[in-house]
Amino acid sequence: MKPDAALGVEGTVILKPGREGPARAGHPWIFSGAIAEFRGEESPGAWVRVLAGDSSLIGMGSYNPRGAIAIRLVTRGEAGLDAGLVRNRIDDALRLRQATGLAGDGGFRLVNGEGDSLPGVVVDVYAGFAVLQIITAGAERWRDWILAALADLPGLHGVFERSAGGARRDEGLEDRTGVAWGETPPERVEIAEGAARFQVDVRTGQKTGFYLDQRGNRARVGGLARGHRVLNCFAYSGGFAVHAGLGEAREVVSVESSGPALRLARENWELNGLDPARAEWVNADVFDYLTTARGHGEPPFDLIVLDPPPFARHRNDRDRAIRGYRDLNRRALRLLEPGGLLFTFSCSPHVARDAFEHVVATSAGPGMRLQLLERPSFESDHPVLAAHGEGEYLKGLVVRLAVD
Ligand code: SAH
Repeated sequence: MKPDAALGVEGTVILKPGREGPARAGHPWIFSGAIAEFRGEESPGAWVRVLAGDSSLIGMGSYNPRGAIAIRLVTRGEAGLDAGLVRNRIDDALRLRQATGLAGDGGFRLVNGEGDSLPGVVVDVYAGFAVLQIITAGAERWRDWILAALADLPGLHGVFERSAGGARRDEGLEDRTGVAWGETPPERVEIAEGAARFQVDVRTGQKTGFYLDQRGNRARVGGLARGHRVLNCFAYSGGFAVHAGLGEAREVVSVESSGPALRLARENWELNGLDPARAEWVNADVFDYLTTARGHGEPPFDLIVLDPPPFARHRNDRDRAIRGYRDLNRRALRLLEPGGLLFTFSCSPHVARDAFEHVVATSAGPGMRLQLLERPSFESDHPVLAAHGEGEYLKGLVVRLAVD
């Protein structure tokens, strides 16, 4: 797509009568079941006009004939999509991060898909290097415009693209990985997060290299860790471990199934000048560890973090995911000292907050009393459209095991 080109209207979608409510209220998705008629060329990523059953305009968006989410709305007016609109959205995304003080030398999410009205686009920035992920056929067509806008951002040295994975294949797209603009990032990019420093593997690490969405919760754990024996489950590159260590935890045990992630976690611990004797790195399945820890004579913990990967990526996985969360929380609570804290999270978009809270509340063993202390959620660099409940994928709870 040339920088001065625009996507003209390629089709018109008419919704079934009475199915326009959520989209009118600002929800960015239209499911295939809500569509009565399609006029035009049914190509993946087509720029389409969306009309309600009475022919009134709802907005413009990208169409995909393959997925359950048939349309992702981008604008509410009658407009073509051009480089200027994409640039305005990226500029506004940066304005938000500047206003909340996050756009510094640490890591921050610059573009959060639907939340920044650029569905299918994620851009994370690590100390001057952006990592770009495009996961929809619609956004794929704006790629050149996104890169042009990013190239003009002050202080950015390069854009590394990591457009890969199952979501892309569902959209009929091939993987694309590599330098998309500017300098090649070093193998490890160092970022600051509060008092902590982290090496981020932007090229081959998970997601874009780091779980920026847990920034505030890592700081919270750091603030509460003093003197405690901490269990950090699903440790990845040691985010919670390092903050707990800097917060003067007595000891931090980290459990993680990925060997490379755990090695990076250990390096991050050392990078922060923390004493290796206060850390234990366990390369294991968390479910197994939690089941056998007692038998191996592990004393109970004062603070436990459960930050698992999403158990439900699709709506059909929801029930299995709920069972997984119950099992996990139950096992963890058995290792918690009375008076201890559990930081427990779900990042499954299809498990709603009330369902997750119910699971945690009912995971207590006989005679256990759980006190709900905090409801951590998303960060301001991961904005969610107010009408888009699914966008709030990260749900957390801080609970305390009351002392009898
Ligand atoms: N808390 C981390 C992010 C966790 S992401 C942070 O703040 O950076 C989830 C991690 O769980 C991934 O690193 C993944 O490799 C690991 N993982 C997934 N399933 C696991 C399992 N069954 N046992 C142990 N680790 C697992």
